[in-house]
Amino acid sequence: MRRFTVDDFDSWRAIARQALAAGIEPRALSFQRSKQEKTLFDDEANDDDLPSSRSASPLRLSKEFIALAQMISCHRDPNAFNLLYRLGWRVLNGEPLLLRDTLDDDVARAVRWQQQVRRDAHKAKAFVRFRPVGEQKFFAWHRPDHWVLKLIGPFFARRFPNVEWMIGTPLEIVTWNRRKLEYGAGMPTDPGADADACVDLWKTYYASTYNPARTNVSMMKREMPVRYWATMPETALIQELLTAADSRTAEMIIKGETPVHPANAGYTNLHGLNEAARSCSACELCEHATQTVVGRGPPSARLILVGEQPGDEEDRTGQPFVGPAGRLLEELIAEAGIDREWLYVTNAVKHFYFVERGERRLHKRPSARHLAACQPWLHRELELVRPVMVLCLGVTAAQSLIAADFRMNASRGKVFSVPHHQAVMATYHPSAIVRAPSAEAAARMRSELLANLRQAFELSVARPAQAGQNVKR
Ligand code: SF4
Repeated sequence: MRRFTVDDFDSWRAIARQALAAGIEPRALSFQRSKQEKTLFDDEANDDDLPSSRSASPLRLSKEFIALAQMISCHRDPNAFNLLYRLGWRVLNGEPLLLRDTLDDDVARAVRWQQQVRRDAHKAKAFVRFRPVGEQKFFAWHRPDHWVLKLIGPFFARRFPNVEWMIGTPLEIVTWNRRKLEYGAGMPTDPGADADACVDLWKTYYASTYNPARTNVSMMKREMPVRYWATMPETALIQELLTAADSRTAEMIIKGETPVHPANAGYTNLHGLNEAARSCSACELCEHATQTVVGRGPPSARLILVGEQPGDEEDRTGQPFVGPAGRLLEELIAEAGIDREWLYVTNAVKHFYFVERGERRLHKRPSARHLAACQPWLHRELELVRPVMVLCLGVTAAQSLIAADFRMNASRGKVFSVPHHQAVMATYHPSAIVRAPSAEAAARMRSELLANLRQAFELSVARPAQAGQNVKR
């Protein structure tokens, strides 16, 4: 048996790709993580030992497989990379729909490990606490169950881009030098409150030349077609390097304060706000959705419609209200005679929340935690557009803007004044009509929604503009 040593997903993928192309069966090779203790069995091989591939055609593993593999490669089980190879082999050798078979032992284990890694990464994001260990330098100690620093490093780089920091764990460490992330071997224990020890550790690790990411880039350049690069963490990092610029966060961390929500970083126009929202990771919804779906419409709009969250089509296209419910809303807007120049549409939550059922992604209702995490984006949108009227579509948007205990039957069509706006109404979400239990119910809700749209539009015409609103009359 050939044994390969790998560091992470990228180095595993480079070798696995060659081995799969060469037709090497899972029982003929095994992978181990380079930082694990080596056993006395078998000679260690390297990718040069692999025969050239049987076919020149590129191997195609789905995005779904790659996403699953990236998580499982962080699992602590020594067989994580072997399981991945077995799954990849089976998918490419007659079982293309294998990942759909959740009763299969390998798939069930993979899904379980994926969930464990995801939970561990969330805990790390929530519980990592930095302490100062030198001028503009911070250190945090954490004890994760899995190799999650590759997953959380970019998150903290976005949060604290302007100070140097290190997260130490028994498995590995990550450092940020305000420009790039470096990963290295773990440290067995927390250096505690000993600042000198922390500074020494800092120097040691920071000066370390061990950098699997850099090694993997050259490997990837050699091995991978450019079209696969969209899934490489290094490319995401380049984007973050270009966009990270929140110097206020640095001041706050130095003062020991909670960092500001990214929506509250002083954006003075919608374009800047929406661009910042595209890299938001204030809650976990960004980890599964394709992209942030920001609002659409002129900044001078007098009426804002606020939906719940993007759906499947919105998530894929990046545009709000383009799915079946959005098309119905367009119909109603036209019927109500509302000029698009008058209107801005957005959602209370900017990422798609869903559960997978086979090939379908089914909508899930955002929790109060998701609403709270996303509220600053919505509030800032309202502050920048300063509409005359806000119409919430559906109970979730109403609970975000009006009151947590908002009830549609009791309060539909009433105008409320709330801290972030003086005139907010709520009505049904058009998806409620799409999903109505009967044609009669759908017709009744449609006519009530249309009446509320007209009512909101007329109020937006009749009421005076808010102070500072940039509207043409
Ligand atoms: S749902 Fe909102 S708060 Fe959560 S990551 Fe997306 S934009 Fe940020």
